Amino acid sequence: MSSANGYSVLFEPVRIGPVTARNRFYQVPHCNGMGHLRPQAEAAMRAMKAEGGWAVVSNQETEIHPTSDLSPFAENRIWDERDIPALRLMTDGVHDKGALAAIELAHNGSHAQNHLSRAPILAPSDISLETPYPKQARAMDKADIREFRKWHRAAARRSKEAGFDIVYVYAGHHMTLPQHFLLPQYNNRSDEYGGSLENRVRLMRELLEETKEEVGDTCAVALRFAVDEMLGIDGMQAHEEGRAVVEMLAELPDLWDVNVSDWSNDSATTRFQPKDGFQTPYVEFVKQVTSKPVVAVGRLTSPDMMVSMVQKGIVDFIGAARPSIADPFLPKKIEQGRIDEIRECIGCNICVSADSLGVPIRCTQNPTMGEEWRRNWHPEQIEEKGKEDAALVVGAGPAGLECAMQLAKRGYHVTVAEADAELGGRVSRESGLKGLGAWKRVADHRIYDLQQRGNVELFTESRLSSDDVLELDIPNVFIATGTHWRRDGRGRSVSKGVTVSDQMQVLTPDDIMGGGLPAAGPVVVYDDDQAYIGGVIAEQLAENGFEVTFVTPASIVSPFTELTLEQARVQRGLIEAGVSIVTLQALSEVTAEGVSVSCRYTGRKTHINCNSVVLITERIRETSLYDSLRSIPDNGLKTLELIGDASNPGLIADAVYAGHMAARNFERDPEDVALQPFRRELVSLEMDEVL
Ligand code: ADP
Ligand code: SF4
Repeated sequence: MSSANGYSVLFEPVRIGPVTARNRFYQVPHCNGMGHLRPQAEAAMRAMKAEGGWAVVSNQETEIHPTSDLSPFAENRIWDERDIPALRLMTDGVHDKGALAAIELAHNGSHAQNHLSRAPILAPSDISLETPYPKQARAMDKADIREFRKWHRAAARRSKEAGFDIVYVYAGHHMTLPQHFLLPQYNNRSDEYGGSLENRVRLMRELLEETKEEVGDTCAVALRFAVDEMLGIDGMQAHEEGRAVVEMLAELPDLWDVNVSDWSNDSATTRFQPKDGFQTPYVEFVKQVTSKPVVAVGRLTSPDMMVSMVQKGIVDFIGAARPSIADPFLPKKIEQGRIDEIRECIGCNICVSADSLGVPIRCTQNPTMGEEWRRNWHPEQIEEKGKEDAALVVGAGPAGLECAMQLAKRGYHVTVAEADAELGGRVSRESGLKGLGAWKRVADHRIYDLQQRGNVELFTESRLSSDDVLELDIPNVFIATGTHWRRDGRGRSVSKGVTVSDQMQVLTPDDIMGGGLPAAGPVVVYDDDQAYIGGVIAEQLAENGFEVTFVTPASIVSPFTELTLEQARVQRGLIEAGVSIVTLQALSEVTAEGVSVSCRYTGRKTHINCNSVVLITERIRETSLYDSLRSIPDNGLKTLELIGDASNPGLIADAVYAGHMAARNFERDPEDVALQPFRRELVSLEMDEVL
């Protein structure tokens, strides 16, 4: 089938040192919040990628020693022999599905904080930690370097024992020692490991040579290397030292996995980097310098772009982290010519936010991500319907659309009623805002799927009342009617709301998303939501020519976006757009002349004059239809379930997840659902004699 659809080049096997990948699809290492704490979940998730057709499936940063302890974050760990069985779960799972398994050995130097191990923190030179925690890393002496090389070699040996086919030396994301030695901002040594590039690259070269020596007979040795720091002349640049490093080490690794640093640049969101394939200009030189296979990333989801990257000689492998999270079956779908069925990553970094929080991964587009083991959810398969035949879904936002799509897949006859002229709910509305256009893919994917099915009826401009619902005579009803934004200032910092003068024009995000604009500036955007939408609206209004003051009770703009690696860009964007930023102020009153705000610490009040106010504080759940149906005795409904934002306001990812959950649980024994919400990996109480 592969040769018929024009993408056959993507399905050619490629040799990597002593091993061979079955095709060109390569899941590069990415963290998933499971790691050494949840190894069964980790293994099942990676095995799912292998089942979806990826030829290489990598794990994530794997701490090689207690001096590289990333706790409380659950990455992988290979400190000693006892870590091997957990890692073997993954290699077995991946091999069962015909893929190669790769391990990303990591020593995190001063990026590790060693809060669990309390071991000394190591670095090329004395340096403070990245966080405000008052610890410093110490410069490694020669003995430390020799020890570190031994730990890396031992970890490589254990990796082979655990069944890995590809063993990484990792020098990227500003996160590991080999890269820290390379970069002058970390390394001001004057011995043979500092100074000239030849010296700064020495450690990386030694690690590559020693890893090859140790395991190179049967394992390929990969180098993950960030060719550019995206700091211009203040950092390593692809066309200067980045290229020089590749030239120096060209034939040493069996595979070059190249990207840009730091993580926020490598995993740039669509809000700030809308172009898929955005890393190509930085990495395209690599294949001209080495004869070894090259893998690169850049939110690659378009098969045409993939083919062109291979044909132009830019890469041998299509690398993916996020596209493989959003759609673990991306390779299979391309192979089978099911291009329209690909669930494209929207570049929102909610997957990253889970890592930032130290919890298992989740994905806006793929609600089964992270649930493979604990709930036994498969991204492409769902249980067939039970004895019921039909269901009604009211509201076609992300929750309603996902619920309808999964119910339809299960075989029910599904009717969807949406009040608006357009399907998509908040996804349609939010994706109209500056920088969020790609989010529309969440609705597009589901609408397309629903439209292909014969057992689905979609109605727009159909606001249903309880009478309408009962008249339809469909006994199973899912209510996904969403939320709307408050206008009274109530939010996390102001629990009672404030007095709002009717002489002032007050807008909410719903008004702005509906095409509304302030009648006149200056405008105050008051953001007590503190997530993403406040920053987006402020910047958009400034670019529309309004004089904007952004007021927030938080100490920085949009603090939630720290979790998605965007905060610095958000705040920079507002400053560049000329927005005045006022932090640590909570709303006291909206007057006819402006807003009165009070300092979060002293309570001291100030007044900011303006002609319009945008209040972004909290959402009100839209439950009137649900409440009215519930209040009708003997309404004849077998199922009446409130789902998505109307039940629990949250992220789009949460709404999709809720819709999916409702469809999965439909017709399951409620006791089963209640008794076992999900499987847990419990701490073993087994006594361990070996230290
Ligand atoms: P969620 O994120 O939970 O999916 P959204 O706010 O995105 O919620 O979507 C809710 C959708 O429900 C909106 O598009 C809204 O127009 C629609 N809706 C609300 N009330 C009704 C109703 N009574 N009948 C039909 N659709 C409704
Ligand atoms: Fe892509 Fe967002 Fe899913 Fe991450 S959470 S894989 S960025 S869609």
